[in-house]
Amino acid sequence: MYRSHTCGELRLGHVHQEVTLAGWVQTIRKFGSITFIDLRDRYGITQLLFGEELNQQLTEQPVGREFVLQATGLVTERSNKNPQILTGDIEVTVQSFKILNASAVPPFTIQDDTDGGDDLRMKYRFLDLRRNAVRKNLELRYAVNRSARNFLHQQGFMDIETPFLIKSTPEGARDFVVPSRMNPGQFYALPQSPQTFKQLLMVSGYDRYYQIVKCFRDEDLRADRQPEFTQIDCEMAFVEQEDILQMFEQLIKHIIKDVKQIDYTAEVERMTWEEAMWRYGNDKPDIRFGMQLANFQFPSHTFPQRSAATAGNIDFRQTGFAVLDGAETIIGMAVTGCAEYTRKQIDELTEWVKRPQIGMQGLVYIKYNADGTCKSSIDKFFSEEQLKAIAESSGALPGDLVFLLAGREEKTRKAASELRLEMGKRLGWRKEEELKLLWVVDFPLFEYAEEENRWVARHHPFTAPKPEHIAVMIDNDPEIKDAARYLEHPYAGIKANAYDMVLNGNEIGGGSIRIFQRPLQEKMFAALGMTEEEARHKFGFLLGAFEYGAPPHGGIAFGFDRLCSILGGSESIRDFIAFPKNNSGRDVMLDAPGTIDQQQLDELQIKLNLK
Ligand code: ASP
Repeated sequence: MYRSHTCGELRLGHVHQEVTLAGWVQTIRKFGSITFIDLRDRYGITQLLFGEELNQQLTEQPVGREFVLQATGLVTERSNKNPQILTGDIEVTVQSFKILNASAVPPFTIQDDTDGGDDLRMKYRFLDLRRNAVRKNLELRYAVNRSARNFLHQQGFMDIETPFLIKSTPEGARDFVVPSRMNPGQFYALPQSPQTFKQLLMVSGYDRYYQIVKCFRDEDLRADRQPEFTQIDCEMAFVEQEDILQMFEQLIKHIIKDVKQIDYTAEVERMTWEEAMWRYGNDKPDIRFGMQLANFQFPSHTFPQRSAATAGNIDFRQTGFAVLDGAETIIGMAVTGCAEYTRKQIDELTEWVKRPQIGMQGLVYIKYNADGTCKSSIDKFFSEEQLKAIAESSGALPGDLVFLLAGREEKTRKAASELRLEMGKRLGWRKEEELKLLWVVDFPLFEYAEEENRWVARHHPFTAPKPEHIAVMIDNDPEIKDAARYLEHPYAGIKANAYDMVLNGNEIGGGSIRIFQRPLQEKMFAALGMTEEEARHKFGFLLGAFEYGAPPHGGIAFGFDRLCSILGGSESIRDFIAFPKNNSGRDVMLDAPGTIDQQQLDELQIKLNLK
């Protein structure tokens, strides 16, 4: 027996018991003839006291940091208690010990506040994983996993594994491919998600499926993306969108309850994609705070049916101020209680919106002072009354600061969204402890791909249009004759039965009701520019399956790593993955990817042609 207890287990109730502990040496402190060693395992830390009689042995067999040590002794009450740790009332007075294994000096300290930089910690991830902070993240990840499984099991979902070696059908991200030795010149692809398999399982009658599953996407890694990541992937048959929304908001509430002990009783708000874009400038708004956008815009070309806010009788095309007069879009937002911002603060924010990532030319402000007067960077062009009208139309009350952004529609909307989030963060309105869920629904079915002048699926090609839009799809030719006016094409207005779940401004999951009839699926492939032959070649198995009694179905997938990081209060999903890749997609611990032997290449009949 290596140990009778863990290093996190002993309390005053164990005093006088003989125990054996095993773990890693955290610290060694010598005081004259006695030595204290803190012994650590994943359950905690226990102080070991080595008295005079063991000194000789400690000198002969010196113990260093991260040595694996076994010690037997009596649990004794500490005179100098440590309330910071659960075992702080006791120590173990060691009678005998054994070094189970030595350790090289670790390259960084195994502490909450480690001296190790990111790269070093990733290279020695097995040591990094010994740290409390990382261990807590993995524990949380496991708790989320367990909670999800419990809920889904209770609801009658079945975990069914689907293959990793599949066929390459790139649509959306790039596939990772794996050469097949037994089929020279042919390649498998790693799944970007189990999408088609889960749909086939619905055809097979497994009407509630789930899997906590790895997905692989060979994308350029933007911040906080991993080439392999995990989804909670779910599918249900005989459901409408409403059934899915109900089921999966319960799932997330259940997880929040289990993991954060928060009873999320409030109804999950819902917002159409269009409303989200119009009011918040992005499709995953953080609704923990207001500061909605006011659109002062001549008929928006993206949202032609929306009407712009008006400010008195100001004609924003003829203000005399070039930045506004020439602008495709003008967006205002009111920052509560910030009318007293100094020149310096505003200058700094102006620089912030001018950074290349945001790309604005400048930032117009109006201070709507508490006494009702207005002060602005565009005083010259507007009367005070007009400034007040703009401020009020932006939703401002006296005491608020108003920002105006102007420029190309898409860019300005995005910049306004970023500025809103930044202000929310700076002003402490994005409180980590407050969780706010939101369903964004009614996404467009298609997105226009400018470079190729064609439609691409906004979610994926298996997503069903809203029933009332099916005819628009069937009756119209997808061809885009005038690229500049693609928004006038009937396809631009087709909405999907697709939905995203948003938590605190992060998309944590997304899914859709699926097409389940062969003719509509074929029409969809055609709309995306696939020839019949291509469609049959890539997705013949699915089209075939749709001929054998496919039930109506739909589903969703949650980004498991992201969900964990948000619930753990971290920005980075890497912190919640045991062995993550770095920003270049490398595993620096394994030093992967790497080259392979000539012999392996020969077996695969692959010849490299490196450029
Ligand atoms: N497979 C989809 C995805 O990975 C999710 C879904 O539609 O269920 O985004």
